[in-house]
Amino acid sequence: MIKDIADLQNKLQQLLLSQKNEVNSGQVAEYIPALAKVNPELMGVCVATIDGKIVGAGDYQQAFSIQSISKVFGLVMAMNRLGDSLWQRINMEPSGQPFNSIIQLEWEKGIPRNPVINAGALLIADVLASHYSSSKLAFRSNMRMLAGDESIQIDQEVYQSELSHGNRNAALTYLMKSFGNIEAEVPDVLSHYFTQCSIAMNCQQLAQSLLFLANKGIDPRTNKAICSPQDSHRVNAILSTSGMYDQSGEFAFSVGLPAKSGVGGGIVAVVPNYGVICAWSPPLNKFGNSVVGMNIIKGLAEELGLSIYH
Ligand code: GLN
Repeated sequence: MIKDIADLQNKLQQLLLSQKNEVNSGQVAEYIPALAKVNPELMGVCVATIDGKIVGAGDYQQAFSIQSISKVFGLVMAMNRLGDSLWQRINMEPSGQPFNSIIQLEWEKGIPRNPVINAGALLIADVLASHYSSSKLAFRSNMRMLAGDESIQIDQEVYQSELSHGNRNAALTYLMKSFGNIEAEVPDVLSHYFTQCSIAMNCQQLAQSLLFLANKGIDPRTNKAICSPQDSHRVNAILSTSGMYDQSGEFAFSVGLPAKSGVGGGIVAVVPNYGVICAWSPPLNKFGNSVVGMNIIKGLAEELGLSIYH
């Protein structure tokens, strides 16, 4: 583990420098047109520790679209609301399919494989839309509370862009509704889901917001329980097996940390009992994971010996 902050700062800087040419090996997400406009050369990384240290390099304070990283926060909110009955409507297995795949959902009668593929996150969005009087505001407040920053906003351009290009997510939600696994109206579920995906945050805010997962459910800055120790363990288990979609096996093999990616180019990785790493670089590989983000987290995990599979 790194004790010396200046040393860690240097390592982060070196890792970013080593990745300058790697941005050309990925493609910025284009299926959401607003995301295609982001400068592909931006990149940043931040480490937040449970004992209150923040170390960042590059564009770590530049906000980006959190996209599927929002699925982690939605899952925790839904677990807190529904308790164990949630797991009658959703599974906890890796899907072995692309994140927005429809094919498995029909075979499995509208029960999503896990909460971090799109089908699962849409199911979670249904739980939130059905159990909060204003789930979108509740979600934004939760993010502001966890990041300790009241200025966090929903990027309306990204939201509109997702809404007008969301046919696949609509198809997933209607299919689940046809199996009786969606309670709210489909447009309300989609509106909640696109809202949470469109939240803009930076690496520092995301790393700080997830510290509770490195600390058995307790936010170390406030000592507040964000979820139970058991649910913290469960979320980390799901992130370890499914958080990087169909590259989760490779990520476990080469990095060994619970992690979640988003098509905005962000990746968060939880280091239990230590802290959270958030890396960001928009170009994605074919699995929808940030190329540089993965390389940075891998480099750091190797150098610091962070894998949980010792
Ligand atoms: N909003 C995106 C979608 O539904 C989120 C996907 C992602 O970040 N992997 O396609």
